[in-house]
Amino acid sequence: MNGDSNAPVRDVVIVGTGVAGLSAAVYAARADLEPLVLEGPEPGGQLTLTTDVENFLGFPEGVGGMELIQRGKEQASRFGAEFVHGTVADATLDDRPFELHLSNGETRRTRALIVATGASARWVGAEGEADLMGYGVSTCATCDGAFHRGDDVLVIGGGDSAMEEALFLTKFADSVTVVHRRDELRASEVMAKRARGHDGVSFRWNSELLEIHGSKDEGVTGVTLISHPDGYPRQKLEASPTGDGPADRAAKTRETGGIEREFLDVGGIFYGVGHVPNTDFLEGTAVELADTGHIETQAGMTTETTLDGVFAAGDVMDPDYRQAITSAGTGSMAALDAEDWLEQPAASGSIAASEAIADD
Ligand SMILES: Cc1cc2nc3c(=O)[nH]c(=O)nc-3n(C[C@H](O)[C@H](O)[C@H](O)COP(=O)(O)OP(=O)(O)OC[C@H]3O[C@@H](n4cnc5c(N)ncnc54)[C@H](O)[C@@H]3O)c2cc1C
Repeated sequence: MNGDSNAPVRDVVIVGTGVAGLSAAVYAARADLEPLVLEGPEPGGQLTLTTDVENFLGFPEGVGGMELIQRGKEQASRFGAEFVHGTVADATLDDRPFELHLSNGETRRTRALIVATGASARWVGAEGEADLMGYGVSTCATCDGAFHRGDDVLVIGGGDSAMEEALFLTKFADSVTVVHRRDELRASEVMAKRARGHDGVSFRWNSELLEIHGSKDEGVTGVTLISHPDGYPRQKLEASPTGDGPADRAAKTRETGGIEREFLDVGGIFYGVGHVPNTDFLEGTAVELADTGHIETQAGMTTETTLDGVFAAGDVMDPDYRQAITSAGTGSMAALDAEDWLEQPAASGSIAASEAIADD
């Protein structure tokens, strides 16, 4: 993509307005770096999907996800951060200043770049999930498990993260049932053994979540599961030659023989089917990505990536903790790291010049 050489060069552009981007914005703005903050496709990030946040320090009564984000934005604006709508489609990072090409055709140029684009949890495509996400459907047991004391809950998935979610939920829930579409787990042996050996965890094999029942007022009141002795029941439904609306389901069920459907009375559903880091626009750049798509940071306590001048914060560089408080922490680190870097001579030179400095 061609750059717009007339676009002003900022000291720092922060990509993303989840907790990580906002925390970076507060720190960068207080350091007089006048950061430009790009909101992306989900202004406010994942926390806007949840109602109560009970584990963010400083809110003994809990705080609404939306309110926490709104307060963070006000705080950053107060110190001079500038927020604009814009999603980065592509980035030219092989020379300085860096150029960010937005999906609306604009180009933004910057000396330092903080990537705080988060990781999107995979959803399973069950009916009702979009309405009930944050109202009994969750992608984070650490965040929402405590809301389900005494409930019967489901965990969807068969990998390590699903097993971790299931084991964690046994602390609160009356029963935890793992729903997996195959008849064996994909999880590592140690995690599978731990989950299978736990009295509080049971398994529904060859089963998938078809529909979630409930409302925003009542939360989740139950689910419809489908199962098939050979596994992957949803694929079998979808492969059925007849129509695909909900009204056709009964007919399909008869046609594809062997598919069973069942209503279960549960109060919570946790998706453990993985996360996809939002790093597409970094592919092909010198910013190294892990196999999972997360941004690799340098060893030690830093947010530096493999490319000088590019820093990463929050869920986009963290496959493990994925919490608001840890994202805010790495956001502040990224701003401090960027501020430090901007004071070095390499920050004003070309990439070749900074490589020469590094070789000395
Ligand atoms: C339902 C739910 C409930 C949760 N509850 C809690 C809880 O109670 N406590 C807790 O600690 N954690 C909770 N979490 C986890 C927490 O929300 C995340 O750890 C945190 O939001 C990560 O922050 P982030 O800034 O790294 O990324 P995100 O919040 O994912 O924000 C990413 C930002 O990047 C932007 N973006 C993405 N791609 C681009 C692009 N190409 N160009 C420009 N911008 C882009 C998006 O628009 C968004 O603004 C919950 C998560 C969910 C989904």
